[in-house]
Amino acid sequence: MIRTRFAPSPNGQLHLGHAYAAVVAHDLARARGGEFLLRIEDIDGTRSRAELVPEILADLEWLGLTLDGPVVYQSSRLESYAAAAERLKALGLLYPCQCTRAEVLAAAVELGPDGPVYPGTCRGRDVDPQGAAWRIDMAKAAALAGPLEWLDELAGVQVAAPEQFGDVVLLRKEAPASYHLAATLDDAADGVTLVTRGQDLFAASHVHRLLQALLDLPVPVWHHHPLLCEADGRKLAKRRGSPALADLRKAGEGGPAVAAALRMDQFPTGLCLGAGVGIGA
Ligand code: GLU
Repeated sequence: MIRTRFAPSPNGQLHLGHAYAAVVAHDLARARGGEFLLRIEDIDGTRSRAELVPEILADLEWLGLTLDGPVVYQSSRLESYAAAAERLKALGLLYPCQCTRAEVLAAAVELGPDGPVYPGTCRGRDVDPQGAAWRIDMAKAAALAGPLEWLDELAGVQVAAPEQFGDVVLLRKEAPASYHLAATLDDAADGVTLVTRGQDLFAASHVHRLLQALLDLPVPVWHHHPLLCEADGRKLAKRRGSPALADLRKAGEGGPAVAAALRMDQFPTGLCLGAGVGIGA
C-alpha cells in the first residue's frame, strides 16, 4: 500500500501552490488505494506560527481532501532528530560550525542547488560545539555510503549526487534539525512510500537518499511535481500577492471547485505550471 503526505511549514497562509501540492499528494494516494497524511513542519522557531495550523486544516477540509491518520507535528519528533545526529556523529560524519551566514557567503566559491556551497571552513578545525550548527562531511559520508540511486516517478532513475550541496547543515544553530534531516527521518517514521513535493525540492532528494543509506532507513519513491508559477516563471508566493486559500474560503468560494480546477490544470489568469526556478516560498 502506498502512503503520501503533504508537509507544509506553517510560516504563512497556504496559497494555490500549496493547494496544488496537496491535491497531487491526496489524489495519488486515492488513485492507488493508499493513504494520505498531513505533516506540519513546525520546527523553525523563528518563522513557525502555531495559529496557522487550524487554518491549514480548514483549508484542506474546504478543498475536500481527507486525511488518513492523525496530523503529525515535527515539534513532537525532536528526540529522533537528536538520536540520528548522534549516530552520524559516532560515525565521524558531523562537525560543528560556528560560521555566520555572512561568513559562509563571503567564503563560498560555488553555487549549489540551495545557494552558495559552504567551502568547509570549520571542517577539521577545533570549533567550540556549544551553540554550533552541525554539518555533514559530505565527501566522507558519500564515500562511506557508496554509489546510490533513487527513483522519481516522473523523471526516472537518478544517480545520487549529494556532493553538489557541499557540507550541508543537519543540526541548525537556531532549530533542532535542518529540513534535510527532519524530513528524511519523518518520512521514514510515517511510513511514507511515495514522497510527493514540488520540483523545487528535486535536488534535495540526493541528500535525503544519502541520509537514508547512512541511517538504514527505508527508501521511498519520489514524485516531484511541477509548481504553480506566475507569468515570469517564478513559483507562487504569498508576498507577491497570490491569494491565501483562507481568503478564498472566507469569501465563500467553493473549495471542491477550486480543487477540481487544479486537477484539470485550470489556473487563474497569469498562472501556469513550471519548474519554479530560483525563489523560496
Ligand atoms: N515543508 C516544505 C515546504 O513547505 C515541504 C517539504 C517536503 O515536502 O519535503 O516547502
